[in-house]
Amino acid sequence: MSPWSRLVVNETHVKISEIHTRELCERFGHVQPKPRQTDENGATTFCDPIIRSGINGQKLKPHSPPTPPNTSPLRQGPRPPPISQYHVGTAALGASGRVFLGGNIEFPGVPLHQSIHAEQFLIINAALHSEPLLLHIAVSSAPCGHCRQFLQELRRATDINICITTSSDEMLFKPISHFLPNRFGPDDLLHKDVPLILEPHHNGLVFCDHSNAGVEINGWADWTRELGAAALEAANGSHAPYSGCPSGVAMMDCDGKVYKGSYMESAAYNPSLGPVQAALVAYVVGGRGDYGVIKRVVLVEKKGAVVRQEGMARLLLQSISPHCEFHLLTCVSSKN
Ligand SMILES: [Zn+2]
Repeated sequence: MSPWSRLVVNETHVKISEIHTRELCERFGHVQPKPRQTDENGATTFCDPIIRSGINGQKLKPHSPPTPPNTSPLRQGPRPPPISQYHVGTAALGASGRVFLGGNIEFPGVPLHQSIHAEQFLIINAALHSEPLLLHIAVSSAPCGHCRQFLQELRRATDINICITTSSDEMLFKPISHFLPNRFGPDDLLHKDVPLILEPHHNGLVFCDHSNAGVEINGWADWTRELGAAALEAANGSHAPYSGCPSGVAMMDCDGKVYKGSYMESAAYNPSLGPVQAALVAYVVGGRGDYGVIKRVVLVEKKGAVVRQEGMARLLLQSISPHCEFHLLTCVSSKN
């Protein structure tokens, strides 16, 4: 039995049916079913640490039976990754007992650094569900250096155990220090009391003035007000302790549903994840996959910020949804 299948979640093993594993193999490509066991009730315990998207963000119940297949939100994302054709799937167990999924997302027509890595997707997904801590992560391919670094932004990162499911290494979980010794991270730059990713952030941002918020101006569309408020909320949850330039995005699809994304920085700068990317994770997790139906986007960032998102946001949105409306709203810190 693999370490993952021995993993106790609410005093039971994670059990998934074969069809669910096939669904995820289809979505994530490289994740293949491993040898499995069948218990006396016929339930199958897979060594694969990939859990059906239908339980994404939900707490596993003791002895929960295999649930029927449904329309997996992640399966509606771009498939296959349009540039690399290389699927990466990942799953994590949070301290709350919930399981979260992630997959890689690529954007043709823009520079590669706009891509969303599976582990970044996973962390944003956990943040969307207010998961405070990740304990175990399984990933279908070895985490790249970029992701090993991004994971450092999590509290108790050195305690996180990682398993590479396609490794020949018997599905062993190893501490993240095995993958990134001599780490550089928040401890080198921040006071220990500064919140990290997955911890509550209260950046104290307010709109510069009433006109900017669109609240006092007649003729501002309702959607601008709604998205402005949502983007400001996202900016207030942004993790940007290194630049002091938090930002957030809110986007609305053709059905009027709103998705928010908070900018997430890395101590090493380059692995940082932009607010549009974070919002797109929420978009995919929310069950959408066609970016062309994103109709309206509002970005909130600080006035005079040293690190600005507007240019990259426009570039990416122009590529994935050329006809969407875009607004930039600026804010200031109420703490100053
Ligand atoms: Zn990566």
